[in-house]
Amino acid sequence: MTPYDSLRLELGDRSYNILIGTGLIENAGDLISPVLKQPRVVVVTDENVAPLYLSMLKQSLSSAGISHTDIILQAGEQTKSLSHLERITDALLDQKIERGTSLIALGGGVIGDLTGFASAIVLRGIDFIQIPTTLLSQVDSSVGGKTGINTRFGKNLIGSFHQPRMVLADITSLESLPAREVLAGYAEVVKYGLVNDESFFNWLENNGRAICDGDPTLRQSAVLASCRAKAAIVSKDEREGGVRALLNLGHTFGHALEAETGYGKTLLHGEAVAVGVTLAHDLSAATGLCPMRDARRVKEHYRTVGLPTTPADIVGVDWQADALISHMGNDKKVKEGRLTFVLTRGIGKAFVTSDVALEDVSTTLAAAISA
Ligand code: NAD
Ligand code: MG
Repeated sequence: MTPYDSLRLELGDRSYNILIGTGLIENAGDLISPVLKQPRVVVVTDENVAPLYLSMLKQSLSSAGISHTDIILQAGEQTKSLSHLERITDALLDQKIERGTSLIALGGGVIGDLTGFASAIVLRGIDFIQIPTTLLSQVDSSVGGKTGINTRFGKNLIGSFHQPRMVLADITSLESLPAREVLAGYAEVVKYGLVNDESFFNWLENNGRAICDGDPTLRQSAVLASCRAKAAIVSKDEREGGVRALLNLGHTFGHALEAETGYGKTLLHGEAVAVGVTLAHDLSAATGLCPMRDARRVKEHYRTVGLPTTPADIVGVDWQADALISHMGNDKKVKEGRLTFVLTRGIGKAFVTSDVALEDVSTTLAAAISA
């Protein structure tokens, strides 16, 4: 098979390898064999991904001597729910899985988060493997062990930290991904540069368009750099007591925008992140923390690849600064009643703070909405 990149997320006895390259689904059986406790897996996927990659995966499992069954769920964010979780756990118990059986999440972040959570709780915890097939899941959700589901009170409010045993990010699978989903994932790629790696952001300014357009070599480099950045942060702070919170850059704004639009097709998470990251830079510039020039570079880069950079870019929504601020109050990141933001002193110089005046947030939002 073609060579792939490999990196290790160091977490003591829960460390694991992240493989990034082409042909990984085709060779998944051999690649995962060494980490399986028994040669038996259950694959969870969705109805969009199944016709594209499930038979290839099953073939490779069979030829590696791994017995397998599969569960195919509806595609979409609504699937990250208690009822679908129960469908999975019922199917697993009905098949009399054992503690050595592993789950494989084949799909985007929805399938990864749900399958990861099912594996965290069934039989008090079994192993799982991530085979992410969206750019967002390859650069973000498949790495780091956050698993969970949504409730009517909000997103990701029930879940657990449960690390996968291996991650196989097959770049080839991105070829079938709709362009809009590619861009949404790319918003998070850019975030890693902005958090703490200015040279990565510089590289993205030169290569971002080609990455979004489909250049496989550049995509592989971008996914590798993103996973490396995320792995480094997670191995220092698995449970988000400190540095991991930096990865929420743009997310206080972004989640408020998503709450307002109802987590649907109006605004994808990554699109909300592009707007949120831009707003976090605007706010940092407006309060004198970050050079205006850096804030402009961020906006310009997201615009160049075709991502939104202000709520005004999302048409058909009656945006109001006050409504967005009240959504922020319901976020998981509220600490003792104060909003937490990730702000920045410039490209690659993000920091976490609770010292933000709501008036400044409101001014930044109002300016962006009317822009
Ligand atoms: P998704 O899983 O809904 O996938 C997006 C769409 O692409 C779906 O319709 C899916 O069926 C389809 N799809 C997947 N792979 C495809 C392929 N190769 N070709 C064609 N179509 C394909 O969404 P996502 O953006 O991957 O993930 C979003 C979810 O991830 C959210 O629920 C979010 O909360 C979660 N998330 C979790 C973490 C974490 O750390 N656990 C981090 C970021 C996001
Ligand atoms: Mg995100």
